[in-house]
Amino acid sequence: MSSVIEKYHDLEAVILEYMPSANIERIRAAFEYARKSHGTQLRKQGTEYITHPLAAAEIVAEIGMDEDSICAALLHDCIEDTVATHEDIEKLFGKDVATLVEGVTKLTQVTYTSVEEEQMENMRKMLFAMAKDIRVILIKLADRLHNVRTLQYVSEIKQRETALETMEMYAPIAHRLGMQRIKWELEDLSIKYLDPVAVNDIVKELDQRHIEDEAFLNTVQSRLTERLGEYGISCQVSGRVKHIYSIYRKMFSEKKLLSEILDLHAFRVIVNDIADCYNVLGHIHELYRPIPGCFKDYIGTPKPNMYQSLHTNVIGSEGVPFEVQIRTWDMHQTAEYGIAAHWKYKEGKGGKVADEEKFAWVRRLLESQQDADAQEFMHALKIDMFADEVFVFTPRGDVINLPVGSTPIDFAYSIHSEVGNSMTGAMVNGRLVPYAHILNNGDIVSIQTSKSAKGPNRDWLDIIKSPEARNKIRQWFKKEKREENVMHGKLAFESELRHAKIPLADALREEVLSKVLTRASFGALDEMYAAIGYGGISAQKVVNRVREELRSAAKLKKDELPLEEIPEPKINNSAKHYHGVVVEGLDNCLVKFARCCTPIPGDAIVGFITRGYGVSVHRQDCHNYIASLNDPDETERWIRVSWVDTGDSLYSTTIEVQIVDRTGIVVDVASALNTLKVKISSFNARPATAGMTLITIVVEVKNRDELISAMAKIMSISGVSDVRRADG
Ligand code: MN
Repeated sequence: MSSVIEKYHDLEAVILEYMPSANIERIRAAFEYARKSHGTQLRKQGTEYITHPLAAAEIVAEIGMDEDSICAALLHDCIEDTVATHEDIEKLFGKDVATLVEGVTKLTQVTYTSVEEEQMENMRKMLFAMAKDIRVILIKLADRLHNVRTLQYVSEIKQRETALETMEMYAPIAHRLGMQRIKWELEDLSIKYLDPVAVNDIVKELDQRHIEDEAFLNTVQSRLTERLGEYGISCQVSGRVKHIYSIYRKMFSEKKLLSEILDLHAFRVIVNDIADCYNVLGHIHELYRPIPGCFKDYIGTPKPNMYQSLHTNVIGSEGVPFEVQIRTWDMHQTAEYGIAAHWKYKEGKGGKVADEEKFAWVRRLLESQQDADAQEFMHALKIDMFADEVFVFTPRGDVINLPVGSTPIDFAYSIHSEVGNSMTGAMVNGRLVPYAHILNNGDIVSIQTSKSAKGPNRDWLDIIKSPEARNKIRQWFKKEKREENVMHGKLAFESELRHAKIPLADALREEVLSKVLTRASFGALDEMYAAIGYGGISAQKVVNRVREELRSAAKLKKDELPLEEIPEPKINNSAKHYHGVVVEGLDNCLVKFARCCTPIPGDAIVGFITRGYGVSVHRQDCHNYIASLNDPDETERWIRVSWVDTGDSLYSTTIEVQIVDRTGIVVDVASALNTLKVKISSFNARPATAGMTLITIVVEVKNRDELISAMAKIMSISGVSDVRRADG
């Protein structure tokens, strides 16, 4: 009995240490309420049930969480196991605590053990979605940690079930949230029950070499401490043997012997600032020989879960390799407690947030949480954890989940095909954006529609990312625009034939055409054109079939017409083009690309017959073109042009990047383009409004796809707030 009270006093002590202003009466009331509710209920090991919520609350306090979380941890099994209800808890401890307890209860009611591996990821996402508030997950992790710490008392079946669930569900979640310390403990405790024989072997072997290992750790540790002390670097050096599960993984998945694990011994140097991290690295590389290729700079490039450190592997004087991790105290907090380090209760309001930029997303999340909008916080949190998806909001606050690189068009079609089909414009975060704008996590997207909208543009198919939008746009073209499809299809087919150097007359020969149509089950030529037009089949594919049919026709008549003697196709004169552009009805005409909108292959284009300089090619979304359509004197000068055979030629175009002024960002933008091997022919940064900088970059690309991926890449750089094509 008294031990429960003692444990409760321990909890109070932990809380008061980091949160002196905590309302201890309220916490005590939660403890007493929980204790009374669980009554005589016992845990499997025979102790009073309250010892479990007490232990969970202590873990929650060790992470440094707020008062509501501690109360909720104390009460977390009340709704599930006792007569207490949501209402009771709300009345006594407030809405927040009741919601947290309810959240943990819901998670507890889900079982994951029978789920297939490929479903696991979805289950993890679902768990986050259900939790709605990150604190629910943190309390649940504390609950689970105490349960696996006391797993020896439950049945063997229950041990394995819980261990498996922990390994597949909770350890990865702790990892995502950057909570290394909890992750390791969950893994080490679980693996004991999942593969006891192997773990025993490892423990035995570690025991045998224990004295040797200790001596080694001490030698290196004192050598490092001494050296760094000599140079006046204030730091803490510690050494340890890797934790059991990571040894297990290396031995069994990489088939290594214990002695072959390069980083079996790991040292950690914690210093006061980033400059010292690199100083320490220098000293270590002077003392020990670094193993080439093993240095990792997670300070420059933090892991997605915010982990930061320098890692290096070196060889000790005794020929024993080891790993050193170097980090600041702040980074250490983040490494141990991850998101919780940022969640931590802080005395007073003005607690400084170090490394503002690196943790910008956490700050954003915390800010939105302060507005008590836990739901939005959760959505935002989910966002940074699922890298292949982008989560955006409707103006009403619903979350729409799209593939990375999606545009407002994808968004519109994911709402409803009608929204996409009648789309006339898009706003992101209250600002008008071009259709090709790449959506970012957390963007609020609204779509402007109009009954008189002319429907989707064929070029959208090149911009969009989601299969859903693609299907819906194709459907539309198929249904609504038969005539236009036929025309587009015909043009595409003929241009593809020219490309393949097959005369149109040959392709349309009855014996060839009928076979091509039958093979793809088209009733008539127009049907085939229509299908090409709406994108149901590619012109290239059809032309390949034409070529095959021509060949087999030639083979049949082998005697008169051997394969080699298929008549050299006559090149249609109208196919002459400059810079990959064909102008309808005009042969050999001089083509220039308009400077205002710098079109590239893949853009929908239109030509303007200039006075004396041939045809100037504009993008169809160029504002000069759009404005000129209202000018009766000019409308007749616009003529249809199309891309043909652009191959590997490079085209110049201009993009504008709007960035938050921060050190190094310009370099980041340039090096992103460099990584993609996109040639930069001019680069010009100038200050814009409100601490922003506008960079104008002239790049050379093969086509629109290449440009769009370059733009997406730039958009993903932190600090970039907008990327768009210059259009005048
Ligand atoms: Mn529990």
